[in-house]
Order: sequence, then structure tokens, then C-alpha cells
Amino acid sequence: MPNLSARIAENLATVRGRIAEAAARSGRPAGAITLVGVSKYVSAEVTRALVEAGCCDLGESRPQSLWDKAAALADLPVRWHLVGHLQRNKVRRTLPLVAMIHSIDSRRLLDELKGSGVFDSALPGQSSPAVEEQRLPTPLILLEVNVSGEEAKGGFTPQEAEQVIAELPGYRHLRVCGLMCMAALEGGLAAARRDFAALRALRDRLRGLAPPQIVLDTLSMGMSGDFPVAIEEGATIVRVGSALFEGIE
Ligand SMILES: *Cc1c(COP(=O)(O)O)cnc(C)c1O
Repeated sequence: MPNLSARIAENLATVRGRIAEAAARSGRPAGAITLVGVSKYVSAEVTRALVEAGCCDLGESRPQSLWDKAAALADLPVRWHLVGHLQRNKVRRTLPLVAMIHSIDSRRLLDELKGSGVFDSALPGQSSPAVEEQRLPTPLILLEVNVSGEEAKGGFTPQEAEQVIAELPGYRHLRVCGLMCMAALEGGLAAARRDFAALRALRDRLRGLAPPQIVLDTLSMGMSGDFPVAIEEGATIVRVGSALFEGIE
């Protein structure tokens, strides 16, 4: 489908251009921001066209859809991101497939990850160099924080996130590297900017509390409607879906 490929490439170039402009406004190189293309609205075929156009970080919000797409696109060099809620009974199947989980939203889920065994093998010194080499890297993890305080939203409260960061030495080997949020549904771009600024301020504060081996350098914030604002407020990852698929189907 040449039309599909051309349209996807055009949409991707537009989004990347807007990312570069917003990055410049925030005094950062465009390369400091990772675009995760959220493919949840489209088929595996359309998703394939997006990867072939050059977007190799893909996000899905439902674990089952991620499993299916990962299988359908197994021949492509995709880094998968889970951006939506992870049910505890889906942890084991999801972990080996993903580079990053953006949406760790409860202690129960953290405990499930810890108990999954996947991270235990990361214990330094417990396995031979050969085993170390074969071992898949465990996914990076972000804590989802409900900065807007809306009741319908999932995620830790800022206070809970602070407690979890302080408890991280008890969750050894979980590679927590930052925070994620979704902006308030109400209030437009001004409210979104307030939420993004709040997430960044929280991250800056938690950095001072985190155990020494934990580096909180990642802020996953911004979607199609608000990603330039998120970048201005310090996003290092934006999760963009619909803007990449405009004009398709
Ligand atoms: C769907 C989704 C996105 C992308 O949303 P768009 O507005 O289509 O860009 C980003 N993040 C999460 C968590 C999502 O569920």
C-alpha cells in the first residue's frame, strides 16, 4: 500500500518536526526526546508501516494487544513500551517482550514484578558470565503518578510515589528510571502544562530521596494533543498515537 506508507511517513515527519521545535524552545536537542508511537488504534499492517518509516519505539496500552502485535512484527527491530495498566496475572508474559513499562501504578504490581523471578536473575555475581550474556535485559520501569488528582485516573499519588522511591532498596533489581503521567482531561493546555510541571517538580524532589543506584532521568508525558507543551516542561519521552495516523482509514 504505497499510499499508506507515504501518509505515515508524512505524519511521522510532521510529528518529529514539532518535537524538534519544542525541544529547541526548551533548549535541548531533538535527540533528547524519544517518540513512542502508540499503535493501539491501528492494525498490525499499519503499525508495520510506521516502523518501516523509522519509528522503532512502539507503545500499546493493553498487554494482550502488545503480545499480539509483538508476535505479528517479530521480524522488525521494535522496542515495545507498555503504556497502560498491567494486570498482575499478565506480568510474566509481558516482561520478556518490553523495553519499558510506563504504567506501574500500585505496590501490589511492584510486588508482583519483584516476585516474578525475572529480576532475580539480575543479581550480580550469582550467575556465570555466559548466563549473564544470554539473559534478556529486564525492562525499565516508570512510576505512573496521578498528578491531576482526578478520581478516574490510575497511578500513585505524589505522596505514595515518594514513599515507593524511599522503599526501592527493598525492590532490588527493579530498574526504576523515572515517572509518567497523563494530563488532566479537563482544562485544556493550561491544565496540561500545570500537570507536566508538577510531574517534573516531583521528579526533581524524588531525585534527592532516591537510593544512589536509582537515576530518575526519564519523564514520560505528552500525547497527540499536548506533546509540545510536555516537551517544554521537560518530557524525555512523548507517547503519540492519533497524530501519527491522521488520514488513515
Ligand atoms: C492512547 C494513549 C496515548 C496516545 O494517545 P493520543 O492522544 O492518541 O496520542 C498515550 N499514552 C497512553 C497511556 C495512552 O493510553
